[in-house]
Amino acid sequence: MQHRRSFLKKSIALTTALPIFNVLKSFASSPIKASKPNGLIVSTWDAGIRANAAAWKIIGNNGTALDAVEAGVKITELENNCCVGLNGRPDRDGFVTLDACIMDDKNRCGSVAMLQKIKHPISVARAVMEKTPHVMLVGDGAFQFAIKNGFKNEWKGLSKDSKIEYKKWLKESKYKPIINIESGKRNHDTIGMIALDKDNNMSGSCTTSGMAYKLHGRVGDSPIIGAGLFVDNEVGAATSSGVGEEVIRIAGTHLVVELMRNGDSPYAACKKAVERVVEKSPNNTKEMQVGFIAINKKGQFGAYALQKGFQYAVKTDTYEKLMDSDYYYKNQREE
Ligand code: ASP
Repeated sequence: MQHRRSFLKKSIALTTALPIFNVLKSFASSPIKASKPNGLIVSTWDAGIRANAAAWKIIGNNGTALDAVEAGVKITELENNCCVGLNGRPDRDGFVTLDACIMDDKNRCGSVAMLQKIKHPISVARAVMEKTPHVMLVGDGAFQFAIKNGFKNEWKGLSKDSKIEYKKWLKESKYKPIINIESGKRNHDTIGMIALDKDNNMSGSCTTSGMAYKLHGRVGDSPIIGAGLFVDNEVGAATSSGVGEEVIRIAGTHLVVELMRNGDSPYAACKKAVERVVEKSPNNTKEMQVGFIAINKKGQFGAYALQKGFQYAVKTDTYEKLMDSDYYYKNQREE
């Protein structure tokens, strides 16, 4: 309780310097009285700042949330320091395998899993959504589909950093998902982005190279609609990062959206989903990270994580900020 209070105090102190209500409202459970932002983008992790800036070029110019969430995460897919896309870390056999999905305001969705050698899995996911009767393509089928639809094989081998880290990892070859516990380092592999455009429509995207050193063939939550991403244009949208198996187990983002449908704020819904992870997991959740971010139709946003260190980036017409998420395991991993 003490910690929760001091966390709130810190957040409130932050807002006094900012001309917006959003920091406060991300923790609010009561209806917001202030007017709604004219467009809203929320993304996971610090890379979200750069991705949001690209996405805002579209929403700020009256473009659609769908175009924005694709353009935004494409920036991250090209970055070298974020472990998303072809620069990401490999599986234990040395292959970089990519997962991505996208969902729009009309309940359309597309997804690719275990896709190799393609720079922009999010755009392949969008092509699956727009050009096929299916939702999800995997492995070589997804690759062949991409090539037939004009994407190029752009694989040039592991990036310099990935190669160094992989060689180090091979010495012990231990699989321990330590990702996402501390922020600011090269230790998370996913960007999820959810957005509300000026026409009040929502879309979301999620793209990842998945957990480093996973088994070859492993697919996490990120390309799974209802786990790594879910959008219901009448209610809200949510996306996740962290140990994907834990998110899949509780159909995490679908749960967040359903909780919002039943009246929870984005913050409260994310918090309940994290509590559900703790309650249902057969694993020791003290040793891992899971984080959710969510937005609702009123333009409110919120986030919650298992551990300290989960960050998310928020952008509106008047506001741009990297936020520290509230989290479940207080007193754990405190420096
Ligand atoms: N959720 C991703 C996965 O399980 C990993 C991450 O968020 O970093 O593949």
